[in-house]
Amino acid sequence: MAIATTNPTTGEIIQTFTPLTSAEIKSKIAIAHQAFQDYKSISLGQRAEWLNRAADILETDKQKLGAIATLEMGKTLKSAISEIEKCAIGCRYYAENGTKFLQDLSVPTEASQSFVRYQPLGIILAVMPWNFPYWQVFRFAAPALMAGNVGLLKHASNVPQCAMAISEILETAGFPSGTFQTLLIGSEQVEEILRDPRVKGATLTGSEAAGQSLASIAGHELKKVVLELGGSDPFIVLKTANIDLAVQTAVIARTMNNGQSCIAAKRFILEAAIADEFETKLVEAFRQLKMGDPMLLDTDLGALATSQIRAEIHHQVQDSIAQGAKLLIGGSYDRHQVGNFYPPTILTDIPKTSPAYTEEMFGPVACLFRVADLDAAIALANDTPLGLGASAWTEDRNECDRLVNELEVGSVFINAMVKSDCSLPFGGIKRSGYGRELSMLGMHEFLNIKTVWIN
Ligand code: NAP
Repeated sequence: MAIATTNPTTGEIIQTFTPLTSAEIKSKIAIAHQAFQDYKSISLGQRAEWLNRAADILETDKQKLGAIATLEMGKTLKSAISEIEKCAIGCRYYAENGTKFLQDLSVPTEASQSFVRYQPLGIILAVMPWNFPYWQVFRFAAPALMAGNVGLLKHASNVPQCAMAISEILETAGFPSGTFQTLLIGSEQVEEILRDPRVKGATLTGSEAAGQSLASIAGHELKKVVLELGGSDPFIVLKTANIDLAVQTAVIARTMNNGQSCIAAKRFILEAAIADEFETKLVEAFRQLKMGDPMLLDTDLGALATSQIRAEIHHQVQDSIAQGAKLLIGGSYDRHQVGNFYPPTILTDIPKTSPAYTEEMFGPVACLFRVADLDAAIALANDTPLGLGASAWTEDRNECDRLVNELEVGSVFINAMVKSDCSLPFGGIKRSGYGRELSMLGMHEFLNIKTVWIN
């Protein structure tokens, strides 16, 4: 994929970028390695101060930074701005809590003194996706930098200007040169970096194929990896639920970020008693959504990030209909219209073999399923190789307990949509990946958890 800014709303190629050569990559790794030798001894207070300054810059420049994201990947400007505000929250969270998370953990044993010490590993490579082009990076960078690691960023090829803005923000905030560098490179150049002995680990957010490729190289090199991959999250609505609130939340959970979110609600599993009501209300709410210029404040949905993503989702919808799924709204677009727009779409009566059942739908397409009871809802929710998040709606305490215990996912949200929160771990199970980001647990992923025993 060429490294370029292409406006999804107009199809115009704004700027292209030349990938780094192998010699340039080696030089950047050498700079990062050198930077780490000093950075690991910088005080936690100083690192926290730089993170707080990065948060200030994000807040001051959120309009300008948001416009870059909208230009490069098509999300609405209002959602881009709230993404940047979340990055500032992430920086402040680790500035405030990082010292506590990194303190020695005293563990009484028969030694005169025994404890756990947390030490940085060195260079960590971050391979990141375009869908939340700032947040995905900051949720890695803030804990990594606070812990004393240094970062190399290989961002998605369609968001190079966001990538460059991120390293500039961190440098302007005060982080020493070389502690966080953006490498404009293609995915085929990742291997060279990961095999370099100075690079100690990698985190990748993206597709299963990319995760498999990175993990197999890291496995060969025996390096630590965190993988945040796809999701096909269920949104279960049971008969005791507050239906109006569930519908209102379902619309946001499915269409935010133009439907291109790993933790979007993708499969709506409805108990028979409330299925008709939920379906009617959801169709009506989807009809009200405004698709158009993402720069306008009243726009709900902009264009999808690339024409290939639109072609893929349209193919999945059409294939599912061909196999017997029923289309309730959307499902087609004007091929002559400029921009990668795809309408909010709802499918029901979905056959088990169709893409709407078996694949992740990475766009504004809601798939509705009807079930007889809670047992059937849980069985259907778990009938996927993915296991990122789940949202479930019920006022019944026993049902709540069963959902929390039996859903095979990394996060369960009851009467709320799935979201990431700095103070809670984020990540998946099954083919959604492994390892965690955010909270203390995310920070500890790339540390040497050193056991110390003193007699
Ligand atoms: P993608 O194609 O895998 O791209 C993600 C990143 O990986 C990009 O930087 C990409 O670079 C790079 N990449 C692609 N193939 C690679 C390879 N073989 N080796 C090394 N790097 C490689 O993913 P996407 O299609 O843009 O993103 C959508 C997927 O990401 C969805 O499945 C979504 O659910 C998932 N996602 C997961 C999370 C989460 O937190 N779990 C969050 C967001 C998205 P290029 O751009 O140069 O190809």
